[in-house]
Amino acid sequence: MAKTLPQSGKPSSAVLSELKAFHADDAKWKDGRTFSLVYNAGDEVSQLLKDAYGEFIAENGLSPVAFPSLRRMECEVVSMAAGLMHGDGDVAGTMTSGGTESIMMAVKAARDHGRKERGITAPELLVPPSIHPAFDKAAHYFGVKIVHAKLAPDFRVDLAEVERLLTPNTVMLVGSAPPYPHGVIDPITELAALATKHGVWMHVDACLGGFFLPFAEKLGRPLPPWDFRVPGVVSISADLHKYGYAAKGASVVLYRNAGFRRHQFFTWGGWNGGLYASPSFCGTRPGGAIAAAWAVMHHLGEAGYLERAKSVLASTDAMKRGINTIPGLHVLGEPHVGVFAFGSNTLNVYELGDAMDARGWKLDRQMDPPALHCMVTPAHAAVKDVFLKDLAECAGALSQGHPAPEGSAVMYGMVGAIGDRSQVNEFLLDFLDGLFERV
Ligand SMILES: *Cc1c(COP(=O)(O)O)cnc(C)c1O
Repeated sequence: MAKTLPQSGKPSSAVLSELKAFHADDAKWKDGRTFSLVYNAGDEVSQLLKDAYGEFIAENGLSPVAFPSLRRMECEVVSMAAGLMHGDGDVAGTMTSGGTESIMMAVKAARDHGRKERGITAPELLVPPSIHPAFDKAAHYFGVKIVHAKLAPDFRVDLAEVERLLTPNTVMLVGSAPPYPHGVIDPITELAALATKHGVWMHVDACLGGFFLPFAEKLGRPLPPWDFRVPGVVSISADLHKYGYAAKGASVVLYRNAGFRRHQFFTWGGWNGGLYASPSFCGTRPGGAIAAAWAVMHHLGEAGYLERAKSVLASTDAMKRGINTIPGLHVLGEPHVGVFAFGSNTLNVYELGDAMDARGWKLDRQMDPPALHCMVTPAHAAVKDVFLKDLAECAGALSQGHPAPEGSAVMYGMVGAIGDRSQVNEFLLDFLDGLFERV
């Protein structure tokens, strides 16, 4: 029988204990056994996020006039972010619900800017293939053609290819700092110079790095320039709910000045319901996400972020070194910070992933080339040694011909054999249908 709304309610305590039991089958992020999806900065931060979120759970960021509290916090969060990314006093932005929304807003702004300032009616977006799919999604939603350049052997976008693919219809050029798949920062200075030469809007996707790279730099890591110090960079997306350690539903999108940001806004003065002005994609905006982001930035301060960045970098260095000493495995390219991938010339890494799954780890699978993915957080300092031990044992067993437990290797093997990846779409649609079947 299909699930329906219960006839009468239950006491909140009973509902809560039922709810808490649902955790049982979830990814064990608290144990540091996952490498994406959760960025855990410790129990004290978690509690603060809950308290701050709860404090503003009812307030709605759609109306900063009704809630000057949220407006103040959002403006302060945007200012702090702009400062970290070396924006001057002209840099303007808004908070959004996450990286995808920040990216959608930047693409929409560039599209509208291209139409208004350059008369472009068939807009194109030019991106590396390592770019986050949120750009493909934005292109799909906003009627923009997306063109993927290719990667150079060092996993950064191939500049000659980018220059070749630029057309008079290109409204936006994108690089990532760093891209999710391999963690190798794209040549932002060179891309921005190309963009400037052709009068194109340059966006830097720093969803991952925006709240990490500034601290890595302060810790003395050699990093290529990527932020507003690079001439020609027009906009940056940076996720608070990743290495900003905020509650989910928090990101910023920043623009060189408020003139660029204007293309993001939506207004409608002809509604029966009154004058409508919405800064970003969502209408109602959860006040809790704004308050929690503001709270964690004030709680951690620069010192707290530096401490966590130091831990992440130390764990990453140890993991990369360890992986490179395991026969058959190697880290791909020269990743800059806490995100990287590793592959193999001798082993099937998907089988290796399945063997690690069986030991309770959860590593994301990647394609072209086949690889496993690590996104290191402060939670991994305590488990990096056992991770390396398990990885070495699993790789050793595979190389001696012991089969891996059954997992996703078969599926990835099949997908890998299909040259035209657009054919995978039907399969993925079926997958989503299945996930959200009626219960
Ligand atoms: C996570 C991520 C995004 C998308 O962010 P969401 O918050 O998941 O929507 C975009 N770009 C990069 C590089 C990311 O890592």
